[in-house]
Amino acid sequence: MGFPVITTDMTGSSLRLRDNSKIAIIGGGPAGSFFANDAIRYAKKLGLNIQITIFDGKDFNRRGPRGCNMSAAVIASSLHAKLIKDGIELPEGIVRQEIKGYYFQTKDYGIKLYKPIPNDKSSILAVYRGNGPLYSTHTESHSFDDCLLKHVIKQGANVIYEPVQELRLASDINTPATIIYGKSASYKEMEADLVVGAFGINSTIVNKIKGLNFGYIPPKTIQTCQMEIPLSDTFIKKSFDDNIHVFALGLKPFRFASMVPKGNYVTVSLVGTRDLTNKDMLNFVNHPVVRMKLPHDWEVPDKFCMCIPKITLSHAKKPFTDRFVIVGDASITRIFKNGMESAYITSQIAAQAAFEHGISKDDFDIHYYKPAKKLLAMDNLLGTVILMLSDFITRQNWLVRPRLSYVKSRRGSWIANHLNTLLWNMVTGDAPYKKILIQAINPVFQIILIPVTIKALIKDTFQRIMHHYGIKK
Ligand SMILES: Cc1cc2nc3c(=O)[nH]c(=O)nc-3n(C[C@H](O)[C@H](O)[C@H](O)COP(=O)(O)OP(=O)(O)OC[C@H]3O[C@@H](n4cnc5c(N)ncnc54)[C@H](O)[C@@H]3O)c2cc1C
Repeated sequence: MGFPVITTDMTGSSLRLRDNSKIAIIGGGPAGSFFANDAIRYAKKLGLNIQITIFDGKDFNRRGPRGCNMSAAVIASSLHAKLIKDGIELPEGIVRQEIKGYYFQTKDYGIKLYKPIPNDKSSILAVYRGNGPLYSTHTESHSFDDCLLKHVIKQGANVIYEPVQELRLASDINTPATIIYGKSASYKEMEADLVVGAFGINSTIVNKIKGLNFGYIPPKTIQTCQMEIPLSDTFIKKSFDDNIHVFALGLKPFRFASMVPKGNYVTVSLVGTRDLTNKDMLNFVNHPVVRMKLPHDWEVPDKFCMCIPKITLSHAKKPFTDRFVIVGDASITRIFKNGMESAYITSQIAAQAAFEHGISKDDFDIHYYKPAKKLLAMDNLLGTVILMLSDFITRQNWLVRPRLSYVKSRRGSWIANHLNTLLWNMVTGDAPYKKILIQAINPVFQIILIPVTIKALIKDTFQRIMHHYGIKK
């Protein structure tokens, strides 16, 4: 064990990482690997010998949900740029599809979105978090999470492929924490000067950590639904043209629905206003607008890969105490947007706090939680309002169709570019919700659309009256 003793040094912290300190990371998903990567870099920079151990009971080389941290697994261009800067290369087998752009589909109208910055060379990548769908037959490894883990192992991190059962935090600040890990009946212990909770929100350990009673309240969550549809790669290329399709069909209970092409599979992801089930997925894939993206004789296969992971709706309260900090989904993430990039950001700020300031609860409060909340959580409040508004607007078919077709007919104009950027930022999460709101209420944008809106309203009212009196056109 190193010397993380109580000494007030230049930074004013009472508890610091020192030479030979041990860090234990619970969870080898993106947050765990990103924290390890940053910690290794800081240790090198400060000339410290720090032993880093990541625990994860999941084998990312398995196919299907058991080997997968279930998500649509789209790497935003901004995260991809950060990975390149960090020297994290993604081999060809890992990138399932380079994404050209997005297609925004309403109930009876679709519009192709283009990158708002012309000649933008950044790439959006579709990957698999585990080793691809259940029943897939590929031979090379497809797992993005495994690829990140291998990167940090190369940098010097140690990985123990076993789950953590319990965390013991001593009441004496000078005593290290203890990790109890392993599979049934053969539990082992490890002491750690700092423990990092990167266990996400789909694990039972979340409640055990809450039960430690230092004030941690996990984020609120909702159950989503995902399905992998196997199709021929030529059909997918033709039907999706390397674009992610985002659906705003105005259908309850869906809040967000996407289809991501990945070579010879399409990943369908649904987020709702309540917990979703397999039945919701079947309703969605059988909707006539969705069926248009699938072969005309397509039927739900007998066996297919499906999962119901949770997604966060809020941020955690007090995800830290002395010698313990929580990062990634189990801490703070942008709601419904680029979760893996939020994991990158929270891990980066937490590592900076631990190495530059200290590992006491005050250090994590001031140098991790407050800045991370300011950066990610505040914006989520606005995000919630915008998503509710967008839910409401996309249900108004009479309004959506004429507005989209007006803008489509003026491609290249200011109004078309403005709406494209607005929708692009909504579906990709490339911009904070605050910026999206400013774009949405832009007075010039709204004024230009007033005549279109009035015309659409008159047409809709007229049609309703005709319908009411049973008059056919
Ligand atoms: C439907 C859906 C679609 C999404 N789409 C996208 C997307 O396209 N792009 C994007 O960026 N984000 C997306 N996300 C969000 C993204 O999946 C998460 O934000 C991201 O995975 C968070 O990373 P994490 O490391 O915090 O947690 P996780 O990825 O959940 O990793 C946690 C790790 O901890 C391990 N673990 C848990 N308990 C223990 C234990 N007791 N001991 C040891 N290990 C443990 C788990 O096995 C797991 O490997 C999506 C989420 C959902 C639900």
